[in-house]
Amino acid sequence: MQTTIVTSDTDPRISVPEEKLIYAELDLDGIDPEGAEIYREGARLSESYIALEPERQVYWNANPCVPKLFTCMDEKEQDTELALGLPNGLANVYQTAGNKLGDTNLVLRREFQSGIDRAFAAGKRVLVLFVTHESKCDPDHDSCAAWSHDGRAADENAIRQVRRFNRDYVDRGAHLEVVQRHVIAVRLKSYTDFETRVWHGETACIDPLEYMPRNGGPIDDKALFPKVLRHFSDVFPQRDPRFSGLHAHEWSAVLGQMSHMFLANIHFAHDVATGKTKSTKAGHRGRCVLVGRGAWGNFIEVNRYFKVSDFTPDMLRECRIAGKYVAKNAILDLMRRDDTRLSVPFHVNVPYDLIRPGDRCNSIAHAVDLARAIKHDWDERLSGREPRLRFLTELVDALKHDDVNPLEIPSLDILSPDSFRYYVSVSPRETRRPELVATGGDL
Ligand SMILES: [Zn+2]
Repeated sequence: MQTTIVTSDTDPRISVPEEKLIYAELDLDGIDPEGAEIYREGARLSESYIALEPERQVYWNANPCVPKLFTCMDEKEQDTELALGLPNGLANVYQTAGNKLGDTNLVLRREFQSGIDRAFAAGKRVLVLFVTHESKCDPDHDSCAAWSHDGRAADENAIRQVRRFNRDYVDRGAHLEVVQRHVIAVRLKSYTDFETRVWHGETACIDPLEYMPRNGGPIDDKALFPKVLRHFSDVFPQRDPRFSGLHAHEWSAVLGQMSHMFLANIHFAHDVATGKTKSTKAGHRGRCVLVGRGAWGNFIEVNRYFKVSDFTPDMLRECRIAGKYVAKNAILDLMRRDDTRLSVPFHVNVPYDLIRPGDRCNSIAHAVDLARAIKHDWDERLSGREPRLRFLTELVDALKHDDVNPLEIPSLDILSPDSFRYYVSVSPRETRRPELVATGGDL
């Protein structure tokens, strides 16, 4: 990134090109209204995020573990925090396509380690919830697209990752025994059509559906909690290696925290089943791609966006998957509205944290680099004859997957590099308010 702060005080005759300072926040009235809306919404969501701070503090003080969630970027999974009764912003949510973290993701490990250090300084542990998603009613079409709807492959990866989390984040003594455990990791399977998260132990699991009241009646928390806690201690006994290094009272406090999340999920699923909470998880309905972290943690509405973290091992690949679905949905919109404009927006945001906390300047440079890389990738894909053909074929397949008659698909000539739009923003960690600093024209 080349940004020059120009001062011509010394010699006014020297004509210097006027360069735009990308450090300044852009005026939202000066960009397209559809793009601007995300940032207006981001400002509103930031207010709610700030207002939730007391609630997050209460949770933090009352619980032995700091939850960190690993979920798919799929837009059906955006409400994971909510479904587990966690105040928004309390848990770090790490989203990648199908939780494919890779084996040596150093950026993620650095970010994760700093969370462990913060938890340790406060006398806490990190509770990793590694969530894969499936559909109970339509597993072959509406499960995780990143795994081509192959639930077993997604599970095998999750089992391996959970074991690794439990094995790697411990301090060991002279005989390799665990003396201090920093991470407890559990695999959860999210059934998106029921909004249930099933907790998997080594040999058994615990499913919220078993606890749903018959005939939609009310939930009696007082009666239910001891039963749930007992069930949790059967499925997650103290001898389970993931609790090695914990005293009995610490193990039971962790189970208490897990049971509360489970109970919150019963309520959430019950509210959806009884129509109190609206849930329309039709699958892959996102209209834009949110890349990075920071402000996007506040965007938890389902069916509106795909998210791709900036730490994923293959960010461009994930942007290609998400961009394909957004393009597909834009084409479906076109077919319904008879519109001629087709847009596939990518919004990049990172918190001020690149070199050190509060580092706005380098974080902007990082965000601009990410946007440039994504733009370059799409420019190449849509301009080259072969890659374009390959992409359009995939796009048509995605449309056919949605039962669109191939004969009704409009000409895809309208899809050009200009259809892809880019917006770059940064956000302070404390407020998560996105500050738009550049758009596609600046890249
Ligand atoms: Zn998925």
